[in-house]
Amino acid sequence: LPEQEAFDIEYWLLEEAKLQRMPKPKSLAGRIAIVTGGAGGIGMATAERYLSEGACAVLADIDAEALGKAKEALVQRYGRDMVRSVEMNVTSEEAVAAAYADMAVEFGGVDIVVSNAGIASSAKVEDTTLELWNKNMSILSTGYFLVAREAFRVLKAQGIGGSMVFVASKNGLAASPGASAYCTAKASEIHLARCLALEGAPEGIRVNVVNPDAVLRGSKIWTGEWLDQRAATYGTDKEGLEEMYRDRSLLKRSVLPEDIAEACYFFAADTSAKSTGNILNVDAGNVQAFTR
Ligand code: NAD
Repeated sequence: LPEQEAFDIEYWLLEEAKLQRMPKPKSLAGRIAIVTGGAGGIGMATAERYLSEGACAVLADIDAEALGKAKEALVQRYGRDMVRSVEMNVTSEEAVAAAYADMAVEFGGVDIVVSNAGIASSAKVEDTTLELWNKNMSILSTGYFLVAREAFRVLKAQGIGGSMVFVASKNGLAASPGASAYCTAKASEIHLARCLALEGAPEGIRVNVVNPDAVLRGSKIWTGEWLDQRAATYGTDKEGLEEMYRDRSLLKRSVLPEDIAEACYFFAADTSAKSTGNILNVDAGNVQAFTR
């Protein structure tokens, strides 16, 4: 090689080696994310995934005690400047609007909204009281609407697009025995997301859905009365249920909060910039197993 060319190549290789050693920029650096149900299993794992990519995270939850613990755990790992919490009932218009107003003051806005706060319930239709039906509709269907409506108001005013992720459920697509109120509410979340994807697209606001199958580990849903009812439906206990869900999945794997968090990360990050109105089932193949 001519001397100059050899020198250029050597110089380029040295520069390249330096770049390799430099820390990679984090994919969500500078972004602000709010996660409803952030004190729960899936919500906290999702907030942590965002924090690990450099975003600031706001945990929003109705459970003050769990919220305090979740926030402190994340502050320990990512620093006080990166994590906030807000006590909020997703069924209250005022509380939801106040949470976004707080975020505007604390962080100057929001980029990523994860609607995830939820409950589970189990009852055959003839035993489903109007109260139970309304509770499911109020926290799931209406709660997701209120969080999204305020998100749209804020994101449109900011004018720089944004990403919403709905954590719905496999049960919003596939029926589950003795859970018609929950399944119907979850189906409405999925359809709301599709409608909002249509409305948000012209403003660069993307709306996508992540559908978990049963996530038993880390989830507060899988405790108390609902766990007992579910276990009774299938004549087993918590371990038996987890085994059952794993065995009936195509991949024979249990779904964990971190698996859902990874899908929520995909829809928040720019790698999914061309996805909206999509549904990602994180179910180890369970939906397909149902419909084969
Ligand atoms: P979790 O109970 O661990 O977390 C849910 C959180 O939502 C809790 O911290 C709870 O305090 C909060 N919450 C409940 N009602 C609220 C309200 N009105 N306002 C604000 N916060 C409220 O459960 P999870 O497993 O992390 O569930 C998260 C989401 O995933 C829910 O929407 C749930 O329906 C959905 N999901 C869970 C599973 C599963 O098996 N765990 C399966 C499919 C879908």
